[in-house]
Amino acid sequence: MQNHSSTPFSAATFDHHFARHLPGEAGPSTMPRQVQAACWSVAPPTPVTAPSLLAWSEDLAGTLGLTVADQPQHVAEVLAGNRLLPGMKPVAACYGGHQFGQWAGQLGDGRAILLGDLMAPGGQRWELQLKGAGLTPYSRRADGRAVLRSSLREYVCSEAMFHLGVPTTRALALVGTGEPVIRDMFYDGHPGKEPGAIVTRVAPSFVRFGNFEIFAARGDHERLRLLADYVIEHHFPEISATGPERYATWFHEIARRTAVLMAHWLRVGFVHGVMNTDNLSILGLTIDYGPFGWVDVFDPEFTPNTTDRSGRYAYAQQPGVAQWNLQRLAEALLPLVGRQELLEAGLDTFAETFSAEWRRQALAKIGLEAQADAGEDLLVAKLLGILTLTEVDTTLFFRQLMECVPGKLPANALPDTLNAAFYTPGDLPPVFVSQLREWLLTYALRLKSEGVSDEDRRRRMAAANPCIIPRNYLLQEAINDASTGDLGRLQHLLAAIRDPYTAHPAYQSLMTKRPDWARNAPGCSALSCSS
Ligand code: AMP
Ligand code: MG
Repeated sequence: MQNHSSTPFSAATFDHHFARHLPGEAGPSTMPRQVQAACWSVAPPTPVTAPSLLAWSEDLAGTLGLTVADQPQHVAEVLAGNRLLPGMKPVAACYGGHQFGQWAGQLGDGRAILLGDLMAPGGQRWELQLKGAGLTPYSRRADGRAVLRSSLREYVCSEAMFHLGVPTTRALALVGTGEPVIRDMFYDGHPGKEPGAIVTRVAPSFVRFGNFEIFAARGDHERLRLLADYVIEHHFPEISATGPERYATWFHEIARRTAVLMAHWLRVGFVHGVMNTDNLSILGLTIDYGPFGWVDVFDPEFTPNTTDRSGRYAYAQQPGVAQWNLQRLAEALLPLVGRQELLEAGLDTFAETFSAEWRRQALAKIGLEAQADAGEDLLVAKLLGILTLTEVDTTLFFRQLMECVPGKLPANALPDTLNAAFYTPGDLPPVFVSQLREWLLTYALRLKSEGVSDEDRRRRMAAANPCIIPRNYLLQEAINDASTGDLGRLQHLLAAIRDPYTAHPAYQSLMTKRPDWARNAPGCSALSCSS
C-alpha cells in the first residue's frame, strides 16, 4: 500500500485499518439509531450536485506523497463524496461524550465519514475523513452537512495550528458542494441558506475520549478492550507493558500529551470553545474546530462560544477542563485496569506535565529558559495579570516586548515599542503603566541574573510567540469573500500561516490589532455552535 512520492490523488489506493481491525455494523446507513456493539457503521457519503475544489494543502499533500496532478475536478468529486477510490470504505464512528459536564449518551460521527487511510512515504499511516458529507446513523435530527463558514475556519485553523507547532488534526482540502445548507446562525429563529462545504480532515486517528466512554457506559467491556488494544498497538507502539499495566501506561501517555497540548493552547492564545469529551483526541491532538477563537484582548475568562454562558470552556479554564475530561476517560478505562490508583497516578501525570510544560512555554514567551527542578515561576503569571488592567492585544504584546530593551524605560512611561499592542496607547490607566514598568525592571534583573544575552532572549521569544494567527476577523473576511467566489483572501491567509513566527512584510496587514468594526461583529468576537 506504499504510495510513491508523487502519486496523483486520483491514482492513490487506500486501506481501511480502523474498519479492518475493529467490529462494525452495516445497518440502514442514514436511519438515526442507537448502534450497539460496534465501533463503526457503514455510512456512504451523500453525493452533491456541483463539487468544486476551493483549497488544497500542498504541504500536507507532500507529506502524504500526493499531488492533485491535473485533475482537480476528479479530486473534488472524490472529496465531496461523489465517488470512491479503490480501497475506500466509508464509515462513521460510534462514540459518546460528556457535553458541558453532563453525560450525553451516544453521539458519534453525525457528519464525518472516514474513507480510509493511506501510507505516506515515511511509513506513517494517515486517515482521511470528510466532514459534512451527509447523513450517518449518528446524525440524530441534524442534516449531516457543514457550511462554508465553519469548514473554511476548520481548514485554515487546523493548518495554522500545525505550522504553529501545536499538535492537531490536519486538513487536505476544502470543497464547495454547490448546494445550500440551512442554518439558524444566531439561534434566533431566523434560519437562512448558506453555501455548503466539506473539509477533508487528515490524522493518524480520529478516536476520541468518547469512543471509550460509550462502551463503558453500556457495560460493553469486550468492545472497550478491543478498541483500547487497537489504539495502543497501532498508535502507541512504544508501550510494551502487559496486563492492566498496559492500559495504565497508555492512560499516562494520553494524560501527558493532553497536558502538553494545553500548554501549547495557552501559549498561542487558542480557545477551543467546546471541550466536551467527544472533542478530545486520544492522541492529544487539537480536534473538531467549531466556535474556537483567539484571545485578542488578554482576558483569562474569554470564550468565543456564545452557547457557553458560564464560561466553562474559557481560555484559562482549558487545562482544568482537560483534567476533568481525563477523569471521565479514567472512569471509562477502569474496567480494563481494575485498580483505580493506577489511573489516579495518570491524573497526577497530567498536573505535573502541565505545570512543567506551561512553565517552560510561558518562560520562553519572555525569552527565559526554564531551570530544571525550579519551583513555580510567577514572573509570567504576574505579567498576564497586569495585562488585564487595560486592553492589550496579547499576540502583538509579546512580539513588541521582544523589541524592547527591558531595563531602559522612559521616565514615567512605557517603551514606545509597546504602543502597537495597546488599544488606547494615549490613554493608559496609570496603574497599568506603573505595574508594567515595575515588571519590566524585575524582568531586566532576571535576564541579567540568568546571564541571558539579548540575542538568546530574542531567539527564544521569536520561536514562542507567533505574529500570524488566523484571528477570527481575518477568517470572517476570507469567508465573506469566498462566499462571493473570491478566494484571494483565503489564499493570502493560507500563505501567511505557513511561517507564523516570522514577520514577513508581505503579511503586515495580518499582524495588526483587531479593527474596531470586528469588536462585536458576528463571527469575529463571538460565535454560536451553528455550523
Ligand atoms: P460537536 O460538539 O460540534 O463536535 O458535535 C457534537 C455532535 O453533534 C457530534 O456527534 C456531531 O457529529 C453532531 N453534529 C454536529 N453537527 C451536525 C450536523 N450538521 N449533522 C449531523 N450531526 C451533527
Ligand atoms: Mg465533535
